[in-house]
Amino acid sequence: MLRDSYNRTIRDLRISLTDRCNFRCFYCLPNGEPPMARKDTILTFEEIAYISEIFVSLGIEKIRLTGGEPLLRKDITKLVRKLTDLKAALRDLALTTNGFDFPRHAADLKQAGLDRVTISLDSLNSEKFIDITGVDAIDKVLDAIDVAKQLGFEPLKVNAVIVRGRNDDELVDFARFAREHALSFRFIEFMPLDSGHEWSREMVVPGREMRDTINNIYPLALKEPSRGTETSWRYVFADGASGEIGIIAPVTEMFCGACSRIRLTADGQIRTCLFSTVEHSLRDVIRSGATRTEIVEYIESVVMKKEPRHYINDPDFLQPARTMSFIGG
Ligand code: SAM
Repeated sequence: MLRDSYNRTIRDLRISLTDRCNFRCFYCLPNGEPPMARKDTILTFEEIAYISEIFVSLGIEKIRLTGGEPLLRKDITKLVRKLTDLKAALRDLALTTNGFDFPRHAADLKQAGLDRVTISLDSLNSEKFIDITGVDAIDKVLDAIDVAKQLGFEPLKVNAVIVRGRNDDELVDFARFAREHALSFRFIEFMPLDSGHEWSREMVVPGREMRDTINNIYPLALKEPSRGTETSWRYVFADGASGEIGIIAPVTEMFCGACSRIRLTADGQIRTCLFSTVEHSLRDVIRSGATRTEIVEYIESVVMKKEPRHYINDPDFLQPARTMSFIGG
């Protein structure tokens, strides 16, 4: 069991497969990547599978593959197949994607054993979609959502980062979409993790406001009285319509006290918090020929350093050097 110094149990591992992305979302990676890390610094599939197996033996129950855009990593299906060997102990093997290449890979991923997929969709309007993501790809993402449903990737989650003046006028449309497509639409507060350093407090739409806006048109009922270790408050539609709404409000309603997450970057650094300013090179430990016991001890010692909370709302908050696309959202 992995437990940190604040007695939080770590059960959720997010693995970034690549820093690269084919979208240019203004809130994440507007200007593209800096020169790529040397290829030999990126963890191989064998290394990821070995590390995952160790993490699972230490109590990790959920693995989410992310990035950058994880579907840009060649042969991702091979990795999913390797990870399904762990599924006896793993409750959930999931992928977060922008959806662009998903239809091409979906059947193979399903067959390889992927349980769930989360797809990002930041606007239902094609012009606005281009404005936010930098690519003309709304049809591809909508197609990805259809394909995911057809193949039975359930429950299907769709994420939108809601930003003041950009897409906050679409909340009710998103909610209608969730009802019509019987999926979970999750709205995320904009966090200061954008490589363009455009974030400002005024751009954050508080989770409570998002919920109220939807609730005024489609009354909502809280699904569970407690959020547990989940990031989102989950709501169902009070009129019994299908679909679900999730509100993820890390800025205005910090949920660090119940955090169960840990992250591994594509180049093998453990990050104990999205907002960590230090990283821990598991890659160096693995590549130095450490024994399994030494690796376990290293992971346990890093987990003990997990931060008590993020400091976004403190006056001296410093944005971490590595941004969302490098950390793995
Ligand atoms: N490329 C994939 C995608 O588009 O979903 C996976 C990586 S992306 C970094 C993972 C999630 O992080 C997405 O839901 C994205 O919207 C979210 N994200 C990125 N930057 C963010 C920011 N500054 N604030 C809040 N969420 C952000």
